[in-house]
Amino acid sequence: MTASPPSRLVVRARRVFDGAAFVPAAVVVENGLVVAVLDEEAPVADAAELRVPADAVLLPGLVDSHVHVNEPGRTEWEGFGSATRAAAAGGVTTIVDMPLNSIPPTTTAAALEIKRAAAAASARVDVGFWGGAVPENLGGLAPLHEAGVYGFKCFLAPSGVDEFGHLDREQLRLAMGEVAALGSRLIVHAEDPELLGADGALGRGYDAFLASRPATSEASAIEAVIDAARATGARAHILHLSDARSLPAIRAARAAGVDLTVETCPHYLTIIAEEIPDGASEFKCCPPIREASNRDLLWQGIIDGTIDAIVSDHSPSTVDLKRAGDGDFGLAWGGISGLQVGLSAVWTEARERGIPLEAILPLFTAGPAAVAGLDAVGRIVPGAPAHLAVFAPDDVVHVDARELRHRNPISAYDGRVLTGRVRRTWLRGEVVFAADADAAGDAVAGAATGRLLARNGALVAVGEDAS
Ligand SMILES: [Zn+2]
Repeated sequence: MTASPPSRLVVRARRVFDGAAFVPAAVVVENGLVVAVLDEEAPVADAAELRVPADAVLLPGLVDSHVHVNEPGRTEWEGFGSATRAAAAGGVTTIVDMPLNSIPPTTTAAALEIKRAAAAASARVDVGFWGGAVPENLGGLAPLHEAGVYGFKCFLAPSGVDEFGHLDREQLRLAMGEVAALGSRLIVHAEDPELLGADGALGRGYDAFLASRPATSEASAIEAVIDAARATGARAHILHLSDARSLPAIRAARAAGVDLTVETCPHYLTIIAEEIPDGASEFKCCPPIREASNRDLLWQGIIDGTIDAIVSDHSPSTVDLKRAGDGDFGLAWGGISGLQVGLSAVWTEARERGIPLEAILPLFTAGPAAVAGLDAVGRIVPGAPAHLAVFAPDDVVHVDARELRHRNPISAYDGRVLTGRVRRTWLRGEVVFAADADAAGDAVAGAATGRLLARNGALVAVGEDAS
């Protein structure tokens, strides 16, 4: 046990993000909760004081509703300890784990319990779980829903792992109907397998890979999702939108009353196909990173509010798998490792486009929280858990994949120079990352104080609290 922290903490800052803008404020934390948001210089008795420097801002802890942790079963790709250390270093205090790439996949209530047991031992930030909708469990999603998953993920094209099958169009409709009846949501990897190229070697050039996963494939699958959501009344979510030309269809569906949300990822907003070197398979992901003109349109979808969330789709593997086939884009594992750098990467690009920080912050906080139905997080308001982050928008970061805290030292962001750095992260009022004191930062990050979150509000205490 460490010494008891002061019972009350007040964090004062000239710029506190209130969900829409920066305001001067004093945030008072007690027993892990935000208990008051006061004027910046308001007196607070019996409290430890911390003042955020003038060159930094105070944010709610970020929410990343799309993370593949892979433990158990493929823990050598990524585990809860390493993933949540990376999250904390990126200002992320809540992640929602995807149901595939771990073994077993999260497609039964028993599998969810296995995942929870793995996470309980080592989570440094809070972890919730998505369930999976696969051909084998359609019609039987209720137990997983009751066990507390935030919704169900399905694929419309092969997922990349044999144990997590994809749904055909009829099965998609059945899954939508089932989640609608449960009051849950279906989150969809939208690529149409009929329009994808064949599996196998494609060579080291990026163009062949991009051509093998055309925008028409995303557009076709997104139309199918919209049709199924409209027919069933289900709440549906488009995962990792890459094809910006599908944004008008998404807008139109919403205008017609379809309950639909959409996310994109930092790599689609910051990287372009034209710049990806031959053999650089660390940039491979599905759907693929597309051309500069597409990226501009995605940014339009950010600015006009069509896109609800920016999430990492952190999907690591071992370096060997990521380099399989000596950088052959058809053979390498598809997935980007970027959990730790998402806000810095997107902010770097936003600033160059003249877009203010406060315009992108909702997409890292309340936006993804709403996608997952996590009502309590993503905002600094009385009663919310005291998940906070200090972000310095002008700090320069040279990304070195070997220094990132996720398990395998490979990342599409390696070598990038980014603007904006997370300096400190609190989980329930306790520091879980401190950039200015590496030793101390590592020491605090050693405590697995993350909690397991469940849709129905049940909190499962882990780490020290578990005894
Ligand atoms: Zn994913």
